[in-house]
This record gives sequence, structure tokens and C-alpha cells, in this order.
Amino acid sequence: MTFRRLTDLPLAGKRVFIRADLNVPQDDDGNITEDTRIRASLPGLEHALKAGAAVMVTSHLGRPTEGKLEPADSLAPIAKRLGEMLGRPVRLVQNWIDGGFDVKPGEVVMLENCRVNKGEKKNDEALARKMAALCDVYVNDAFGTAHRAEATTHGMAKYVPVACAGPLMAAELDALGKALGNPARPLVAIVAGSKVSTKLTILKTLAAKVDQLIVGGGIANTFMLAAGMRIGKSLAEPALVDEAHAVIDIMKARGAEVPLPVDVVVANDLSVLARANRVAATEVRPDDMILDIGPQTAQMLANMLGKAGTIVWNGPVGVFEFDQFAAGTRTIARAIADSKAFSIAGGGDTLAAIAKYGIAGDISYISTGGGAFLEFLEGKKLPAVEILEQRNA
Ligand code: ADP
Ligand code: MG
Repeated sequence: MTFRRLTDLPLAGKRVFIRADLNVPQDDDGNITEDTRIRASLPGLEHALKAGAAVMVTSHLGRPTEGKLEPADSLAPIAKRLGEMLGRPVRLVQNWIDGGFDVKPGEVVMLENCRVNKGEKKNDEALARKMAALCDVYVNDAFGTAHRAEATTHGMAKYVPVACAGPLMAAELDALGKALGNPARPLVAIVAGSKVSTKLTILKTLAAKVDQLIVGGGIANTFMLAAGMRIGKSLAEPALVDEAHAVIDIMKARGAEVPLPVDVVVANDLSVLARANRVAATEVRPDDMILDIGPQTAQMLANMLGKAGTIVWNGPVGVFEFDQFAAGTRTIARAIADSKAFSIAGGGDTLAAIAKYGIAGDISYISTGGGAFLEFLEGKKLPAVEILEQRNA
């Protein structure tokens, strides 16, 4: 995978267009409640400014209707926050696709919510060409939208003089490439969470690559069913038992394995007050729900993680939102944090677990792209990355 990098290019006096991901959560009054994405976009912006470029930055925000800008969809609060972080005002430009605004070298302007432009989501060619004409260098620094081919993430990259990856995008691709391209072995993946159906392609793709595939949560329940074990009224997808077998077979054919739980934590209901019991995996009763892996299983998996060369983690192995079902996920999280392996993690609930156990600093790379991270694990080509590679050919 080769793409140009912003940090390798001459930028003095150049018009640089940065497609960032500044889609931060806001409360009902439009106040930013969490600004990680703005902060994460700073290195690319600061690099371009320091190098003497005239910088334009845009992003999508929320889900606006194309063709009309509602006040709630405006990037105004984001421009203000970015200005505070950069220590200089960031002017917001509206109706920008035809140009007609001024940016000086060493200055940055924010171009209003790109998803308000008609044709953005459909990757309209005329729109892409107009936006491409605004710049000398196009920078994609929005990994979170890399799985979507839209005018600012894909189309305009075709028509600009130079297209490159920003530092955030490059770091993400470097980390994912290191984990799955040529990984230090053994490569251990944890694919857990609620449903096999949402992660079936990931399971199959990883089954062909990894040395150990740890399943957890509702996904493990379906694998236990496939192994002929009783799981009571646990969350599972009996219709996908054949698919679970297929994954196990792919692994077996390569001498690799899918370890199944030897003990589990069960309850009769799923609530804060639910009484949790630890039982052997062979002793789950008809009215039990498996809501976490047991301590013996957690320790066994932690040992595997301790010996791994590379770890890929997506999905909590239990209902970690409730303390009595959180021990499995906490043990796994700690084991990853303590491991010497190169580790990457991603996924909405996985990030919540990482935050809950305070191990963010001990994971080699935490992916910022939810959907894009999962599609990468599925082995799909991300359109926004593909075009950067093509433009580097
Ligand atoms: P991610 O967002 O990291 O990709 P998922 O959305 O696939 O993860 O799964 C996370 C959810 O799975 C959590 O809300 C967790 O409570 C739930 N979960 C984990 N284990 C179980 C289980 N044994 N039974 C039911 N739900 C589970
Ligand atoms: Mg989730």
C-alpha cells in the first residue's frame, strides 16, 4: 500500500485542501460535548500552516439534508473550537464550491459542512471537479469516512494535481498494515460483541490470517452452539451455526484454533441487579443467559494474549456495562495492555471498554474509524484509500 504523505510534500505558497473528520458530538444547544476528533486533526493542519500553505479544511457534521444549511448543521462551533486550539481565528466560509474566497499562505479557513453540498454523498463528478479546482494539494485526513466514496473523500481526489494522506490517515493505515499486512506472529484476533451476523465477514477474513481467533460475547454463544454445547436462553444466532462451523474449518485446515470458553458467567435476567453465577461451560441450564466468560477462560485467553506478537481487538467479551459481567472484558483489556505485542483496537463499544479500564495509553494503536476499521478488517478496499494509491501510481 503506497500513498503520498502530506509530510513529504513541498507546501509553501500552495493551496492545500484538507478533508478532515470533525464530526464531533454536540448537545441540543450545539455545544461540543467531546472534541477528540478536532484535536486529532491538529497535526495535519499545523504542519500545512507551518510549511506556509494556504489551508482550507472541511468536514461533514451530522446528517444534513443536501442543498440546505440548517443552523444545527453548521461547522461554526467547530471553527470556533479549532481556532482556540490553533491559537488563531478560523474563518468559516459558506457557499464555497465555486471559490471566490480568499486564503493567504499561513492562514486557515474552514469550509462549511461538505455534506450540505448537493451531490456530495453521490460522489457527483461535476461537484468533485469544482472542489478539485480550489486547490493544488488535496489531503484526506478522515479515516473514519474512508469506506465511503463521496465527493470530498473520493471524487475530488481524481481531479486534483496532487492527492495525499494526512498524518492521521497515514498513521491509521500504517498501524492497520503493520497488524494485518505482515504481522509479527502469533497473530491473535479477538472478535466479540453481540452478533455474529454483523461480523461474519470479519470472522471469515480473519480466520484465513490469524493464528488464534478468540470469539466472545454473543458471537461465542453461537460458536458454542456449533460445538454442540447447551447455551440456555443466551443471545445467539442459531441460523448462523453453519457459518460458525465454516470459520472453525478454515482455522482447522491451517492448524489454527478457535478456543471456546471452559467456564462462563450466567444470570437469569439481564439487569443491574441480576445475580451472576459462574458455571462450567458444559453446565449451562435452560433458563440461563451467558453474559460473560468465566475467570478460568479469561485467564486462558490472557495467557494467549501474553504470547502474541500481534493483537487485533474488536468487541467486548461480555456485557461489560454491568459490573457483575465485566470481569472477562476487564481481564482481556488488561492482558492486551500488559502484552508486548503490537496491538490495535477499534469499534464503538470496544473504545468504551478501553476508556472504562483506562488502558488507552497501553494499546499500540486505537482506530478512530468505526465503520472504516471494521471494513478494513473485512479485507475490503476502502475507496478513499484506493484513490490515494491510484493517484500515487
Ligand atoms: P463494538 O461496538 O466494539 O464493535 P459490538 O457492538 O459488536 O462491539 O458489541 C458490544 C455489545 O455486545 C455490548 O453492548 C455488550 O453488552 C454486548 N455483549 C457482549 N457480550 C454479550 C453477551 N454474552 N450477551 C449479550 N450481549 C453481549
Ligand atoms: Mg457497537
